[in-house]
Amino acid sequence: MTDIQSLIRPNIASLSPYSSARDEFKGEANIYLDANENPFGVYNRYPDPLQIQLKQQLAQVKNVPFESVFIGNGSDEIIDLLFRIFCVPGRDKALTFSPTYGMYAVSACINDVELVEIPLNQKFQIPRDSIQKIKSIDDLKLIFICSPNNPTGNSLSIDTIQEILEVSNSIVAIDEAYIDFSTQDSLINLIGSYPNLIILQTLSKAWGLAALRIGLAFANPQLIQLLTAVKPPYNVNALSQLEAIKAVGNYELKVIQVQAILTEREKLKVALEQLQIVEGIFPSDTNFLLVKVFNADDVYEKLVERKIIIRNRSQIIQDCIRITVGTPEENIELINTLKSLS
Ligand SMILES: *Cc1c(COP(=O)(O)O)cnc(C)c1O
Repeated sequence: MTDIQSLIRPNIASLSPYSSARDEFKGEANIYLDANENPFGVYNRYPDPLQIQLKQQLAQVKNVPFESVFIGNGSDEIIDLLFRIFCVPGRDKALTFSPTYGMYAVSACINDVELVEIPLNQKFQIPRDSIQKIKSIDDLKLIFICSPNNPTGNSLSIDTIQEILEVSNSIVAIDEAYIDFSTQDSLINLIGSYPNLIILQTLSKAWGLAALRIGLAFANPQLIQLLTAVKPPYNVNALSQLEAIKAVGNYELKVIQVQAILTEREKLKVALEQLQIVEGIFPSDTNFLLVKVFNADDVYEKLVERKIIIRNRSQIIQDCIRITVGTPEENIELINTLKSLS
């Protein structure tokens, strides 16, 4: 069992967190003269710094204890907080399996933390010898495992992830941004077994709320308390909290939309496979397809000229483009446009 306490940066371990007016008085009152707010207006009051209502709802939907839920201003904020809590700049290290989501590297750089990258194998899985390698890295504080992985689209082997959890003394963050599209189950049920495990999810993808900036983390209460102590006091604004509560309350709509996106993904895959320019399509557990084409730069530029934007990933995975599944109409237009190119 990893002792979280020993992983925390000394300055964070001894931090006295900022205590806002809303932290110091939490009950219901008639008159609030404690936060230097303007008494007039609609949005004049600070939002709930602990997002209690939204967390209660998420705890229920995800079937985890309330104390195990954290909400960030997007997952990107949570990734940054993890670096700030655990990695001493210029000394400690973090680890990713490449190619993967770009924010881990950006956040590492901003925090002056060396990032070790282990390349995924031919099947975009974690290579067998990674376990040995992980054990040999000094001052390794943070491991990011993105599953399903962006931009490859596949889920990583649960057995390998669990093996890493068993041997590693680092914080292991599993980024499940695409979990609602996956055939593989979330590992959220493991948070009770591994104090160093943190599951990252988001309302930006399946829940359709990217504009609100709501990132989710699930972990043991000790880790959640650390994130809470380090975050900016009012990191999730009132409108986002309100709209997220409404959306999460409508679980059925999310299920219907995910189903529609998965159906469209399969239609898109079949249509793409017929095209001359397409060399192959990788298996996807997400709402996008990684597609190997004969000339990615050419396809990308020609689509841009026709006002259709996809992601050119050829710098990262040779000759590959990443296509997000759109509406039925958008997907048809994409296919027709691609047909006219070949
Ligand atoms: C899109 C995405 C996110 C979401 O980030 P937010 O800041 O919550 O919008 C997180 N991780 C990965 C791998 C993603 O692709």
